Amino acid sequence: MVTHPTHIAQDRCHRCGGLMVREEIREVNQVGLRCVMCGEHIDPLILEHRRKMRTPEGVRQLLAKSEKAGMN
Ligand SMILES: [Zn+2]
Repeated sequence: MVTHPTHIAQDRCHRCGGLMVREEIREVNQVGLRCVMCGEHIDPLILEHRRKMRTPEGVRQLLAKSEKAGMN
């Protein structure tokens, strides 16, 4: 079996692989995620953004953007 490194489980931190716990954000009345290991915080808007970026084309755009940002 081959594991796909591009697959990111929602309950694992994308930075350190730590466990993500649900965290209520009262200001927006929504639930985000917080890493218990490094404190990385993911809010519902970011999750929604990631969902959109799941298509191969979306990922390509995202990579192109981050490459440009890295050059500056
Ligand atoms: Zn983490």
